[in-house]
Amino acid sequence: MKAGKIIIISAPSGCGKSTIINALLKKGEIDMEFSVSATNRPPRDGEKHGVNYWFLTDEEFHNAIANGEFVEYEEVYPGRFYGTLRREVERRCEEGHNVILDIDVKGGVNVKKMFGNRALSLFIEPPSIEELRNRLISRATDSMEEIEKRVGKAAYELSFAPQYDARVVNDNLDEAIARTDRIIKDFIAK
Ligand code: ADP
Ligand code: 5GP
Repeated sequence: MKAGKIIIISAPSGCGKSTIINALLKKGEIDMEFSVSATNRPPRDGEKHGVNYWFLTDEEFHNAIANGEFVEYEEVYPGRFYGTLRREVERRCEEGHNVILDIDVKGGVNVKKMFGNRALSLFIEPPSIEELRNRLISRATDSMEEIEKRVGKAAYELSFAPQYDARVVNDNLDEAIARTDRIIKDFIAK
């Protein structure tokens, strides 16, 4: 059986990664499964353990690092760790399924290096930083302090876009979903 491929999606927080990924998973046309990352950040309202993230304590996260459980992990915001678990990726790939990762820019570049042609790295761009701030405010899941931290990191994160295999601007959502869908389908068919 052919091993599954890896689809990496990165973007500054609030660009619409989760919205686009969820729309594609819901359509169900592409054989791909979402890799649930681990994090030590607290769950937002409505987020579920094992669905959005594996929510770990600081100690559990550091034990998982020590036990070699991560393919990669990053301190994306000060004190906030996020990591891709080996068990989320390896079994699915061995079974021939493609796996989609929602990970930050450093993690995305690292995973692309690890998997080479078996991975597609896709960068979602916002129409502007101002629009990104508006989206985070209307999402209403983070405090203003948290939103400013995220917006403050966005310009740095956008500087990684040229290192990605493909880029999609998420201005009109339906168009961004359609473009992402096409790029992933072409990659999987290769
Ligand atoms: P991310 O996963 O990248 O942090 P989300 O998918 O949570 O971002 O999207 C952030 C917010 O912006 C959500 O409230 C979402 O509904 C909204 N959103 C996503 N795409 C668009 C778009 N093209 N136009 C307007 N709002 C959008
Ligand atoms: P959020 O707190 O908004 O869910 O995610 C914040 C950032 O962490 C996003 O850029 C998201 O892509 C990134 N992230 C989520 N999971 C992982 C992971 O497993 N590894 C890395 N490196 N980044 C992740």
